[in-house]
Amino acid sequence: MSNFLRGLGGRNPRQQPQPARRSPTTPSSAQFADMPGQLQQYGAAPSSPHSPGKPLYMCQPFVKAALVKGSFKTIIMQPKYSERMEWIAVNIFDFFNNLNLFYGVLTECCTTATCPTMSAGPMLDYTWVDHNKRQIRLPAPTYIDYVMTWVQNLLDDESTFPTKAARDFTPNFPNTTRHVFKQLLRVFAHIYHAHYPALLHLHSEGHFNSLFAHFLAFGFEYQQLDVRDFKGVGVAALVDKWREMGVLDGQIVPSTGGPV
Ligand SMILES: [Zn+2]
Repeated sequence: MSNFLRGLGGRNPRQQPQPARRSPTTPSSAQFADMPGQLQQYGAAPSSPHSPGKPLYMCQPFVKAALVKGSFKTIIMQPKYSERMEWIAVNIFDFFNNLNLFYGVLTECCTTATCPTMSAGPMLDYTWVDHNKRQIRLPAPTYIDYVMTWVQNLLDDESTFPTKAARDFTPNFPNTTRHVFKQLLRVFAHIYHAHYPALLHLHSEGHFNSLFAHFLAFGFEYQQLDVRDFKGVGVAALVDKWREMGVLDGQIVPSTGGPV
């Protein structure tokens, strides 16, 4: 069925160095009404270890650091003779693996001590829903490990991400992919909010910005992301800025030429 997925030559193992832990909920595709990570905003003191003010990722030259110049419209276009769900599936595969690699090098600075909550903005922590449907605050590394394990399990699940010729995507696939995008967005948001200096230290800001901009452009183009997903999220300011700059909406013609 999925030529793109078959072309990947098998499934990539998770490359996160920390030992895999299983989610206490391990949501299946049928449990999305109980998906973890419900948004919760706190009126208390900022949960971030960083002081308030303009975040570094909004400052020059970092805000425009990128490996890809111009718009992402061209590279997110669905190739001819591919199916929409195949195209979404293969892109999720890549976004997940690339984000997992970035987070893998940040695990030393994302610990239960430095990140006792899954922060994504000065007034925003995400919470996880446990077995009893209670919202609980988890340290960011635990939350992210649950998310990445959940996504990896989905990718490994032949009934969700089919790679065999005889199998097809289920009707629930669009719902599944939207939830995957929402959770991956939270991982991006935490890294920008809490670990951007570490990315700068690694000289990876251009690469990470390009990955995030590609993820956003794709997510908006294929209705995988919703504006509500950005409520209270610190990095929403960067998204707005990139829209202004034309990075996400195709107003800049890439150097490779052609209509966008
Ligand atoms: Zn962290």
